[in-house]
Amino acid sequence: MMRVLLGGIVVSLMAASFGCVPESKSTQASGSEEASEPRQRDEFAQDRGGDAKAVPVAFDAKRAMKYLEKICDIGPRISGSEGMKKQRELVKKHFEDHGAKVRLQTFTVKQESQKDPVEMTNLIASWNPDRLQRVILCSHYDTRPIADQEENRRKWNEPFISANDGGSGVALLMELAHHMKDLKTKVGVDFVLFDGEEYIFDPAPDHDRYFFGSEYFAESYRKEKPKQRYIAAVLLDMIGGKNANFPVEENSWLSARALTRDLWQIADELKCTSFDLNHEGPSVLDDHIALNRVGIPACDIIDFSYKHWHRLSDVPANCSADSLEQVAKVLSVWLQRVK
Ligand code: ZN
Repeated sequence: MMRVLLGGIVVSLMAASFGCVPESKSTQASGSEEASEPRQRDEFAQDRGGDAKAVPVAFDAKRAMKYLEKICDIGPRISGSEGMKKQRELVKKHFEDHGAKVRLQTFTVKQESQKDPVEMTNLIASWNPDRLQRVILCSHYDTRPIADQEENRRKWNEPFISANDGGSGVALLMELAHHMKDLKTKVGVDFVLFDGEEYIFDPAPDHDRYFFGSEYFAESYRKEKPKQRYIAAVLLDMIGGKNANFPVEENSWLSARALTRDLWQIADELKCTSFDLNHEGPSVLDDHIALNRVGIPACDIIDFSYKHWHRLSDVPANCSADSLEQVAKVLSVWLQRVK
């Protein structure tokens, strides 16, 4: 990845195409006036109210790693596959056992490079389902059919279990589920697992489509106009790598600034040093774009420096309990403050 700084806007120029796609200059979000404002550390130091005394939940990061291993033991979880079905059943039961109301949102898509359409399913686990004011914690839960960052092309089609890319967000939410019933929040919380984020067989730019699940979810929300309204969404993508680094992602900063500021401010208070206020992050196309487009302020917590991204080495052994714990701490304090 090559990153170029242009007037405060980070532009990522990539040789190939990507799941959670760093943007090329041509697809850079507009709003350059806002983007050109330098980000000040002071901006993170505002008190935005809520429960100032909130403390993180007793997140069991070792157990979260066990969940990660359990998911990866299934093998690849490609959209429409047996592995994806197994994972969905496991996760659905897990969330229900911990008191969530789970809804499946099923739809059919046709990928450009594929002969047959495929059925995909977003999974929505709701805590306090009757509350009208709600927030989303989300992650994609499908895995990429090809490990196309492997230099040896023959390795692309070997089984790719994608521990950090997809698995880590699911594992974190599975562990967080243990704490949701007792967590004091003013809003309802939905865990949303998106299918079809990277159902990519042809990685050439502008060939296969990304983000089927989040686009379907966002479009349904826009059309159905439910009484329940989402006031914020936090997307988790590649949050479990060893020594993870989360600079502020540029599209989150442009589209959901107050939310992004809140999260990184909480990280600063809690000394969760994976969250990096001082460096510009890449501008990433990911599931948060569709949510922002329908008016849900959505922020992407993503570690794009993960070395094993789209490689066969993206396995639990290259992930870390500490990274998961830092993200969970920030999220659990944020959930208690948001209103
Ligand atoms: Zn990916």
